[in-house]
Amino acid sequence: MIKEYHAPPTLAEALALKQRLGDAAVFLAGGTEVNSAAFPSAPAHVISLQHLALTAIQATATDLIIGACCTIQQLVDSPAVPDIIKAAARHIFNRNIRNMATIGGQLGSNKSCSNLLPILVALDAAVDLADPAGTHAIPALEYIAGERKELITHVRIRTSASARRAAVERYARTANDISILTAAVSLARDGDAVISPIIAAGGVAKHVIRLAPIERALDGKPLPKRDALERLVASRVAPIADLRGSIEFKRHVAGVLVAKALLRAYRDGGR
Ligand SMILES: Cc1cc2nc3c(=O)[nH]c(=O)nc-3n(C[C@H](O)[C@H](O)[C@H](O)COP(=O)(O)OP(=O)(O)OC[C@H]3O[C@@H](n4cnc5c(N)ncnc54)[C@H](O)[C@@H]3O)c2cc1C
Repeated sequence: MIKEYHAPPTLAEALALKQRLGDAAVFLAGGTEVNSAAFPSAPAHVISLQHLALTAIQATATDLIIGACCTIQQLVDSPAVPDIIKAAARHIFNRNIRNMATIGGQLGSNKSCSNLLPILVALDAAVDLADPAGTHAIPALEYIAGERKELITHVRIRTSASARRAAVERYARTANDISILTAAVSLARDGDAVISPIIAAGGVAKHVIRLAPIERALDGKPLPKRDALERLVASRVAPIADLRGSIEFKRHVAGVLVAKALLRAYRDGGR
């Protein structure tokens, strides 16, 4: 049961509140997780981020800078956001959820089956973290893997990263359901050779992860044909079983999804 709601007017006050209240408080963005009955902790305090002016999307010469409180629907609707991020954002449930859920909340809730986190990882996105001493950027993957809890103010995607060939795929029971597995890839090509692929997957581990052994197996070589690629991925992925599927099932689906994403990115840029 939430006891106290705080709506600080400035970032400095939000950070000071969090420092004072510690684990008894959580940040509140769209509230699709914090206000749900399934939210794991029952925070005594919530610190709303609504007055912190974190809803802008800004394209500079080098970066796309997305405010942490941008909703998923804002990403879908913004002309500044690359199509590949829009495609991943559209996979998120329905417009009701997308109108409330934020990009910062996706990172903060850090769900394995997230639709947005794999493409952020595949595009090597960074997050700006704020603490009372200032702001610094770290890779989004580091935030995810470290189960970090600092306040994210912005997500940054380099313009050069969003120019890479990229594709997203997901497997869900219905179009309006949480995904069972998600995959996102980005890569460059030099003739027939795949260069520096990044492959991210959700639903195979506790968090969204990079499939580094598969990246290494593909780097610098022509992409195998679909059947061989599916077998290669399935043989090198080590999924966890959960209520959404067994290890064998997820191994098979991961092979199909990752191969499909790689082929789309390789052949037509994934667009
Ligand atoms: C019915 C339903 C369907 C859903 N379907 C999907 C789906 O299809 N695909 C999908 O990927 N997700 C789905 N989700 C998950 C959810 O919508 C997302 O994780 C969402 O992006 C959370 O954002 P929020 O703003 O609502 O976060 P909140 O609920 O406000 O916060 C979630 C967590 O993130 C932390 N947090 C919020 N903002 C920040 C910040 N700026 N910095 C640091 N920590 C922060 C909070 O403290 C909290 O721990 C679904 C959720 C529900 C309830």
